[in-house]
Amino acid sequence: MEQKLSARAVELTQGGIRAFFDKAGQYRDVIHLGIGEPDFPTPPEIIQAAEDALHAGFTHYTPNAGLMEAREAAASYLARYGIHRDPAEEIIITCGGMGAIFEALQCLIDPGDEVLIQDPQWVNYAAQIRLAGGVPVRVPVYEERDFRLQPGDLIKFITPKTKLLILNSPNNPTGMVLTEEELQAIGEIACRYDFMVLSDEVYCELLYGGAAFHSIGAIPEMAERTVIVNSASKTFAMTGWRAGFAAGPKEIIRKLVILQENMVSCAPAASQMAVAYAFRRLPNVQQMRAVYEARRDLLAEELNAIPGLTCRKPDGAFYTFPNIKGTGLTSLEFCQRLLEEQHVVIVPGSSFGEHGEGYVRIAYSNSEEAIREALKRIRIFAESLRQ
Ligand code: PLP
Repeated sequence: MEQKLSARAVELTQGGIRAFFDKAGQYRDVIHLGIGEPDFPTPPEIIQAAEDALHAGFTHYTPNAGLMEAREAAASYLARYGIHRDPAEEIIITCGGMGAIFEALQCLIDPGDEVLIQDPQWVNYAAQIRLAGGVPVRVPVYEERDFRLQPGDLIKFITPKTKLLILNSPNNPTGMVLTEEELQAIGEIACRYDFMVLSDEVYCELLYGGAAFHSIGAIPEMAERTVIVNSASKTFAMTGWRAGFAAGPKEIIRKLVILQENMVSCAPAASQMAVAYAFRRLPNVQQMRAVYEARRDLLAEELNAIPGLTCRKPDGAFYTFPNIKGTGLTSLEFCQRLLEEQHVVIVPGSSFGEHGEGYVRIAYSNSEEAIREALKRIRIFAESLRQ
């Protein structure tokens, strides 16, 4: 059968994270700290907005670019961060952030174009870059520098084929948040070497300890070089609604709209109305953020007290990325054995790239109770390695 598949399909492989969840299915009493999926329900008032929309007849196709209500809400949301985009021509409502990233890559990348991503980094970028015919080029980031993308390191990986840089701040998996000065420096490099930036801002509301969010798209010189991607999934606990947006120069967004017409036509109509409500009112965002912050503090403090582990306190997103080098295990061995022996699912750092080796990703998008129990089990496991 394989010979019937396109070369593109043959290349497709399951991401490392999914493989772990499949394996976890064989155990009972498993604690899941693997997936980046908020454990909160979608705020009731957002659900109400969708229900009202359904009763009002939003049950049909919408314009390919999305409903104007949703695009206007996205525009007013972006304006909070100093980004000014015309909802009529410069914003498209997509099927989640994923849909926006896919469309943007398809519209920006030609075969052989190089796309810079940091390493470690969320797994799906590399797969999506390859699907567009591009070549992912990984720029290492290091724990000693808080996993911050260093402008000096970035320059080393630029070639005449560099077309795009994907930035993801707050970052999955490291939780790193870039400062305004760092974004300024990266923006200057993008202008000097003439490449575009795709700024994936899906975690922009999840910030802790006084960290502030800045978008590279707010830098005036970067407006014409930046496509911003955001989504309702993480901010409003709406992963299943499949709604997000892309915002950028109208010549680019126009093409995303045509691509979307040919892929899914539009994001689900009721989800678009829910997003229109959510991005204007930001319901429950501060409450959820406070709960995540308390979990982050708990995890970081307790992990640092476990032999063989050290953990920085990340500034954003909902992941910790502890160093497990002191255990002597690879990240894959650590996660496999933790799953088999203690039934806790976390993700090996190596699945996020070569420079993720020596780390594991622990999501704190699960209850405090589950996190406390997982910490107990991780301690038992780590102590057993010392005997
Ligand atoms: N970007 C990053 C960095 C993510 O971690 C995720 C989901 O895990 C997404 C984008 C996609 O989110 P969605 O398609 O649900 O909006």
